[in-house]
Amino acid sequence: MSSPAVRVRFAPSPTGFLHVGGLRTALYNYLFARRTNGVFILRIEDTDRARYVEGAVENLVSTLRWAGIDFDEGPGKDGGVGPYVQSERLEIYRKHAESLFASGNAYYCFCTSVRLEEMRKQQDALRLPPKYDRHCAKLTPDEVSALIAAGTPRVLRLRVPVGATIRFHDVIRDDVEFSSDAIDDQVLIKSDGYPTYHLANVVDDHLMKVTHVIRGEEWLSSTPKHILLYGYFGWEKPVFAHLPLLLNPDRSKLSKRQGDVAVEEYRAKQYLREALVNFVALLGWNPGDDREIFQMEELIKEFSLERVGKSGAIFNQTKLGWLNEQHLRSKSDRELLGMLQCELAGSPFKEKTFPDAYLLSVITVMRERVSFMRDFVEKGAYFFEAPASYEEEMVRKRWTSESAGQMEHLVREFSLLTVPGPAEFESALHRSAQSLGVGNGVLIHGVRLAVSGVSGGPGIYEILAILGKDETITRIRAAISRLAPTAR
Ligand code: GLU
Repeated sequence: MSSPAVRVRFAPSPTGFLHVGGLRTALYNYLFARRTNGVFILRIEDTDRARYVEGAVENLVSTLRWAGIDFDEGPGKDGGVGPYVQSERLEIYRKHAESLFASGNAYYCFCTSVRLEEMRKQQDALRLPPKYDRHCAKLTPDEVSALIAAGTPRVLRLRVPVGATIRFHDVIRDDVEFSSDAIDDQVLIKSDGYPTYHLANVVDDHLMKVTHVIRGEEWLSSTPKHILLYGYFGWEKPVFAHLPLLLNPDRSKLSKRQGDVAVEEYRAKQYLREALVNFVALLGWNPGDDREIFQMEELIKEFSLERVGKSGAIFNQTKLGWLNEQHLRSKSDRELLGMLQCELAGSPFKEKTFPDAYLLSVITVMRERVSFMRDFVEKGAYFFEAPASYEEEMVRKRWTSESAGQMEHLVREFSLLTVPGPAEFESALHRSAQSLGVGNGVLIHGVRLAVSGVSGGPGIYEILAILGKDETITRIRAAISRLAPTAR
């Protein structure tokens, strides 16, 4: 018998931003679905009304879209098993909860919060793990009916067997087992009538025909509860794959304290989607060799759950920065042109216009020197505007009492150029240095300061050729008049 087509889901709770861990879960599900020609579902788990954040769903969807992760079924994309938002499925959970009650696999609990608090305190004092003491599991059917009839607030709890071992297989962790005695009689329906995560998640995974549950390790301890539910409902279990934890470099759980955790923050800082996706893909998965740079298409071809490791994956910001550079530099000049135009539109130079050919030549000399798009405009500001000031340190070191005279000489040489390309600027500078009797370096530093205002950057002759003869001369003259008064 052929196995059913793969159906996987990403099931975030809309409690705010998309966490990088959530992006990884979404990505692995997406890659697995694409790799197997399966279906990738987005399901919104919004049954915890207290934690619901307005606008979080829209933000999630747009962030996933930004990352290039498209869902096949989900809010607004019906595949016949919707709705895909849990708060729109309450009736479904209610019916399933009733069937669990009817079969004796769940029971109503009428304990007040005061009693539960008292119980917890006692367990604490005895150093026992917090666990419901099953007080209401012993109520007779008549007692239960009477309490319900009296309108006593209640929750529905899962009846966890005593002294059993709950086993399941996990693709990443192999065989996993839990003692049922360590498992709480989980609340399935809360007093507000909403289901908890556990009930809603299992019911939906079944009704949405999910074949593989791929999620973070933090859900591993919930899985035995889910296994019980599958058994009580008489449903076939999906395949489970629990992804390793994400860790800070000091191996503590990834936290906001040690850096950004929201995808939006990386986006705002101009990390490329390709870089973030590549980075997140390698948090737990590896291709089996030492390749590190992957585009989405390659990830789809290569990804497999079998190559996801168990041990925690370190979130290394330096590596993300490196991947960003690699992805940025691997873009074609044309792609970078469009991106640079966007960057300029949001920069102090937005009122100016630059011909494409000009921008392309800036790209050619700057592409190996940038880590982010903004670096084109920040590090290469002098391509877009004459320097408004000059690096003090460099003025002190390089602008001597002879500089003005040397630069005058250079201007005369440059003004004779008929083909002002890099090689021509170079020979002109050499000629000038020779007749002044100074080393080329003296003029190179002087002219770099004059035209760019800064010490680093691409080759000086490239810069001069891009700026052109007239602009170069104008800038040298401006430097002569502005820097002269401070000369030694
Ligand atoms: N709603 C859960 C979350 O926020 C889903 C966990 C799961 O995938 O089962 O991550």
